[in-house]
Amino acid sequence: MPTRTELVVIGAGPGGYAAAFYAADRGMDVTLIDREPNPGGVCVYRGCIPSKALLHVAALVDEAKHAAEWGVQFGDPSIDIDRLRAFKNRVVGQLTSGTGQLVRARKIKYLRGSATLTGPTSLDVAKEDGGTEQLEFGHAIIAVGSHPAKVPGLSLDSPRVMDSTSALEIESVPGRLLVVGGGYIGLELGSVYAALGSRVTVVEMTAGLLPGADRDLVAVLQKRIEQRFEAVLLETRVVGLKEVKDGLQVTFETADGQRRDDRFDKVLVAVGRKPNAMPGIEKTRVEVDARGFIKVDGRRRTAEPTIYAIGDVAGEPMLAHKASHEGRVAVEAILGEDVVFDPAAIPAVVFTDPELAWTGLTETEANRQGRRVEIAKFPWAASGRSLTLDRTDGLTKLIIEPGSERVLGVGIVGPGAGELIAEGTLAVEMGAVAADLKLTIHAHPTLSETVMEAAEAFFGHATHVHRPKRK
Ligand code: NAD
Repeated sequence: MPTRTELVVIGAGPGGYAAAFYAADRGMDVTLIDREPNPGGVCVYRGCIPSKALLHVAALVDEAKHAAEWGVQFGDPSIDIDRLRAFKNRVVGQLTSGTGQLVRARKIKYLRGSATLTGPTSLDVAKEDGGTEQLEFGHAIIAVGSHPAKVPGLSLDSPRVMDSTSALEIESVPGRLLVVGGGYIGLELGSVYAALGSRVTVVEMTAGLLPGADRDLVAVLQKRIEQRFEAVLLETRVVGLKEVKDGLQVTFETADGQRRDDRFDKVLVAVGRKPNAMPGIEKTRVEVDARGFIKVDGRRRTAEPTIYAIGDVAGEPMLAHKASHEGRVAVEAILGEDVVFDPAAIPAVVFTDPELAWTGLTETEANRQGRRVEIAKFPWAASGRSLTLDRTDGLTKLIIEPGSERVLGVGIVGPGAGELIAEGTLAVEMGAVAADLKLTIHAHPTLSETVMEAAEAFFGHATHVHRPKRK
């Protein structure tokens, strides 16, 4: 006999569990399905959270080295990778046991297993502890996430080839590490390994790191990465990968067709992510696009009226916070409310050192659209707070609509940019104009003043830079 549930959420990542929790809070009878023992998904088990624990340690190692310049000498760090891994695992354990408690507190039925749709209102769960459970549902939210992409023709089954999941396990600190892909994961995990002592090379096939982000922001990060990493290879592809004695032989090809070989101890492949397939989807009217994303409307409804989809499986950007918000919209839509997922800004943060963050419209995207915008910048060299940190390499910029002076986007590179960007997101979402940021009193001395001073710079009268506005 099938069990009946009002709402089933398939996948308990930051999209799925946020949706399930919210639905339960709104009084629905909810079943949540995932293979892991507790909610968390890739984000908590093998993504955002463990990587940030390791990046925190990496920042400490770098800061301790930097301290020599201020007369404080710590000596070279001695790194116990087992204890480091244990710290990371403890963080994951604490967070996931917390989400498990929240499931019980909300009286959500948690099924540990893999779901296969059997129709528009039914699915089977192959349970982790054996056996199958049949479920009938009023509505379903598919939140099955994504998996690391592979480089076509370059898959080598070797423990020396890592993806983000295995790289987070820090089984060893390789002497020479090659990171394939200069995106979020490549730069974040490359930074972790560089701080732990690896000589890191990053190879990126496009002309710049973090394609899509504004070049002036990336330039600041790239300068520091070039000091930390052994090499940054741009417009270069990996065309060969083979296991040799004590390592991997890699063949690079540059844009002009030049080839050369090099040897590395390990390779981390971080060339993007792909949506996961939802088993049994063919038993429903749910449609999937050419890239594997489930097609959804503004309410996150699929073509099957009972089924919704959110998060990485429902389209880019593949970011945890986007998934959580979509989850809440989907629940409200199921409850019959007049809602739509239509954010003016979704912040993106790369947790490197310095951090790089942007929200709303980027200058790059404005140029691509041929949209005229005005840019106001405040260099951190003029910020008292960044001088006290001995980190004057940052930059805060505003992307402003000419005429209305509305803030359309904000970009920040510098330590703490990931926290600072929240003000930018609020500004864009609330339709703030440059004067709002300028007239809002920001505490001194803080890095947040750079947002205010960038707005002052727009009017040509930032206190700490003299750059009169051209008439
Ligand atoms: P990404 O899309 O950020 O970067 C992949 C990079 O690999 C791109 O720059 C691309 O041009 C390059 N590339 C692709 N094929 C290549 C090849 N054959 N050789 C060399 N370079 C190649 O993807 P990612 O870093 O794997 O991360 C996946 C996704 O996970 C991100 O898009 C993001 O949505 C999410 N993520 C977010 C965070 C965060 O929010 N801080 C952190 C990690 C991951």
